[in-house]
Amino acid sequence: MCGIMGYVGSRSAPQVLLEGLKRLEYRGYDSAGIALFLDQHFVLKKSEGRLENVERLFQSESKRLEKATCGIGHTRWATHGKPTTQNAHPHQTGHVVLVHNGIIENYLEIKRDLLSRGHRPNSETDSELFGFLVLESMGSGKSLEAAVRESFAKIRGQCSVVVMSEREPGVVVGVRNGSPLVVARDPQGGVFFASDAQPLLPFSQDVIFLDHGDLAIATDQSLRIVDLQSGEVVHRESSHLEWSLEQIDKAGFPHYMLKEIHEQPGALIDTLNGLVDRDGFEPFTLADQPGVALLRQAKELVLVACGTSWHAALLGKYWLESWAKIPVSVDLASEFRYRNPVIRPGTLVVGISQSGETADTLAVLRDMRSRNIPCLGISNVRRSSISRDTDAVFYTSAGPEIGVAATKTFLAQVLTLLVIAGFLSREHKTLSSAELSRLFEDVIRLPHVLAEGLEHDSEMMKKIEETVNQLTLNGDAASAVKGFFFMGRGYSFPIALEGALKLKEIAYDHAEGYAAGELKHGPIAMLDAAMVAVVLAPRDAWREKTGSNLEEVKARGAKVVGVGESADDQLSHLCDFWIPLPVESRKLDPALLPFLLAPVVQLLSYRRAVLKGTDVDKPRNLAKSVTVE
Ligand code: GLU
Repeated sequence: MCGIMGYVGSRSAPQVLLEGLKRLEYRGYDSAGIALFLDQHFVLKKSEGRLENVERLFQSESKRLEKATCGIGHTRWATHGKPTTQNAHPHQTGHVVLVHNGIIENYLEIKRDLLSRGHRPNSETDSELFGFLVLESMGSGKSLEAAVRESFAKIRGQCSVVVMSEREPGVVVGVRNGSPLVVARDPQGGVFFASDAQPLLPFSQDVIFLDHGDLAIATDQSLRIVDLQSGEVVHRESSHLEWSLEQIDKAGFPHYMLKEIHEQPGALIDTLNGLVDRDGFEPFTLADQPGVALLRQAKELVLVACGTSWHAALLGKYWLESWAKIPVSVDLASEFRYRNPVIRPGTLVVGISQSGETADTLAVLRDMRSRNIPCLGISNVRRSSISRDTDAVFYTSAGPEIGVAATKTFLAQVLTLLVIAGFLSREHKTLSSAELSRLFEDVIRLPHVLAEGLEHDSEMMKKIEETVNQLTLNGDAASAVKGFFFMGRGYSFPIALEGALKLKEIAYDHAEGYAAGELKHGPIAMLDAAMVAVVLAPRDAWREKTGSNLEEVKARGAKVVGVGESADDQLSHLCDFWIPLPVESRKLDPALLPFLLAPVVQLLSYRRAVLKGTDVDKPRNLAKSVTVE
């Protein structure tokens, strides 16, 4: 997810902004930029690609630019317009400059109006349009603060902006509306803005987490926070973050696992950046890499994996078959090895392993290659053993995963399979280019929607906590939970398996994952008031049928935790607990909903484990990479 930094005070702004943006890199981005206020004007330095490119732009003029004490910076994840230097933030419109995080939903309408009034945007972004609105409003005599308020009332969507104007030197104005924004007073005088608290810690440990609908107005002497709509001053307490070195390493989260769950939007962005060539005009264009030729030649795919990676493979099968119409079989590596499988000519074997060291998966790949069968790997660890035992590897870019229970690497694997499915659908012409473009646009929006759901005060997060607290802390032995069933159909089925596995791994609860339609073929006999049924019923083609299964488990007296659309009154009323997916997920293709369900089941397990007091990051009997058979 993109990152925002802002500063006004007495320090060197380029240093503060670059250092801060570096600490936000984990969120994933595709271009970056900085705007400094110097000698009554803005100086902009922007580049596609990494932050180092921007840093390089500073080198020749560093002496002069270091004098600036006011500026804003940004790392962008392009949603509207390609990830080019031209589209990188900050955007300058006349005397206004801004950075923006999120999406302006009614941008087409706004753009049409602006064009009709003679304005000519320089970029393809939705963000730049906001600058024109502010410019027009200031043109009619409003202050920067009033102009930002007026302009914000004209846009729809979850987003945050930080804006400056040459007409009001030394004033930085930031709005939080959805995407997070944190401010902190500089002990040396001045104010910092950032997308999260981490980059501010080297400067100040007292930070203010802005609320939705807050507008902060900063100068080197003052900080004022007002309500975006009414303009009235609001009081926000600052939080003192006394993080130890270990906590800094965990970004303030109590466990690596929780940190890694929250890093999933960034893991998706970085993985997409690594896989996809977004400069190509076609959606789902794979970046030039050796595995592409193998995929093109494949007539059939055999996916082999263990544990969580096997669940990723099961999920990938849905997209690969229904979109790309390529036959796919999914096998557990430990079983596949010993059953003399028949491999038809034209088959590509794909081994999926987070660590790239999983003994059973590597053994399958070695065996296949000795039989001259082409093999592709999917792994998160560069130069791991899987690169020796395959013809090519697609690397996910989830970053290091310390928690033993896989979370962000799972989502990155799943995304890799989805992108391969999109690519093959184009190659096989099984989806029209309009369908592919629409799907790809949704993939690009996905990290934003996921980040919204993972906000600490989102409905989804609150309900997860509430649900697990009630199931775990009721203290009465008679009503204590004895086991969990996770169930779902279609895309939700592999997530049900993953949910049950996570709960076993870290909370040591007995849990089973089931295809919801299978329940009545046996396991329903186990259901009673001591069992919890977690029913994954998002808005997709299977929802109605899953709804019937939900009624079946409810009738057996099980406690029912439903997960689905926030406005699904029909199902939510049937459940003891209802966990809503983020509102914005309604606009996504249902095929992408597993990316939102996965964090829900991860967090349910995490919370349960914390309440039970287990060693979340290092659960007993488990190892991060399973190098034995
Ligand atoms: N929608 C904006 C763009 O495409 C901002 C994306 C972001 O949050 O980085 O430029």
